[in-house]
Amino acid sequence: MKTQTLTATFLMLAASNMISFGQTSFLEKSVSNDGPPASNCISETEYKALEERCVHTIKALGLPLSNAKSIQTTSLAWPLRAAAGLNDCSFYAINAYVDHDATTGLSDWNCGTNTYDGHRGTDIGIAPYSFLKMDNNLVEVIAAAAGTIIDRADGNFDKNCASNTLTANSISLQHADGSVTHYWHMKKNSVTSKQVGESVAVGEYLGVVGSSGSSSGPHLHFEVWAGSTNTTRQDPYSGSCNLLNSNSWWASQKPYREPNISKASVNITDVVVPGCPNTETSNEDSVFSIPFQGPGLAPGYAKFYVFYRNETSGMIATMNILNPDNTVFNSWTRTSTTNYNNSYYGFSKVLPTLPGLYTFKAEYNGLFCEQQFTITTPVGINSLSSNSNFTIYPNPGNGRFTLNVSDKYLTGDTRLEIRNILGEIVFSKTITKAENSISIEPKAGIYFTYLINQGQILGTQKLIVN
Ligand SMILES: [Zn+2]
Repeated sequence: MKTQTLTATFLMLAASNMISFGQTSFLEKSVSNDGPPASNCISETEYKALEERCVHTIKALGLPLSNAKSIQTTSLAWPLRAAAGLNDCSFYAINAYVDHDATTGLSDWNCGTNTYDGHRGTDIGIAPYSFLKMDNNLVEVIAAAAGTIIDRADGNFDKNCASNTLTANSISLQHADGSVTHYWHMKKNSVTSKQVGESVAVGEYLGVVGSSGSSSGPHLHFEVWAGSTNTTRQDPYSGSCNLLNSNSWWASQKPYREPNISKASVNITDVVVPGCPNTETSNEDSVFSIPFQGPGLAPGYAKFYVFYRNETSGMIATMNILNPDNTVFNSWTRTSTTNYNNSYYGFSKVLPTLPGLYTFKAEYNGLFCEQQFTITTPVGINSLSSNSNFTIYPNPGNGRFTLNVSDKYLTGDTRLEIRNILGEIVFSKTITKAENSISIEPKAGIYFTYLINQGQILGTQKLIVN
């Protein structure tokens, strides 16, 4: 797992019918790429013991025992699902497929290298916020096909961060055709209360994704055997570099990579991702009271985060902040330059100041992910609306503002007045051009701006200094 942080700035151009000033905003970028575990999810010793237990139990239960690859009649459903309460646009990404290269090289079923040496299963990671998801039981392991429980373990420590010889919390199922599926690394005390010998239906709850056993973070190690032994191991994916079997075991095989935005969020400050085994802090919010000051952010700004699954070089993401009437408040794009399994980026953007229900919407690879948020203002000061004749920003601000005025009013007889809440003039100036040196002293408070042309008030706006 690695993290890097970069900082850059860019200019957002003002609308073309106004004097253009560069409005400085901030783009802060964070990347996280959850790589594969450092070594085998199941050790050789564990494989041997598992195989012995499975054979013993299969015999004891009078189930079919096969050292050969049986005739496959089982088709597999996806072994994970979102628990009630998880509303992310997606919640998993493949960290490592089965390795088909007998040497120290790497080759997955699609002839790529999304695997690690000797890996015998499919590692499905959960993202973003894998430990937060684990702590809150948000991603469940479910039976990929109907079957009988032939092996079960629970009660083992579940926040491992590296390969080890510890025991995982796990379930193994035998299916009607004699094939076996294994579900590894589950959360402590989350494994189904059903015992060895009991039946489960396809899609039935087996446990919660965790990091028990030899694991470097919360994920499911999902492994398929055609028969009762490790030598009958299969790769459930059909592809030209799958050397174990030509058929797909999936009822509906997913693409090799599935690029999308897995989550879009609005945050009071940056996310905190401390690394395994610590729980992440999302710092998300869905209600922002104006004036807003987020920790470490410019006044009036929030962080808008996008989390990618399978970010792919060359693809472009489009982000929009939409007004309550679905018109665009702000829009920007980001071009991907690197492939990642999981990555995320935070953008500092000014919040709207008018009350209402807004939407942060991110689009990537033709798929949308969005998050709604509410802007509220203190009671009694939201009666003054914005006016298209002029813009004063940033609002809320720190006491220094820039004014843009429509060209038609830059006639030499236009004046900006700013009055405090008692009606006293605190700033007054004739405006002949866009003005970027408006300063209000003393600072904090609520003010009212008036743009006056030839004695007529062209518009008023509420201005907040915080
Ligand atoms: Zn694995």
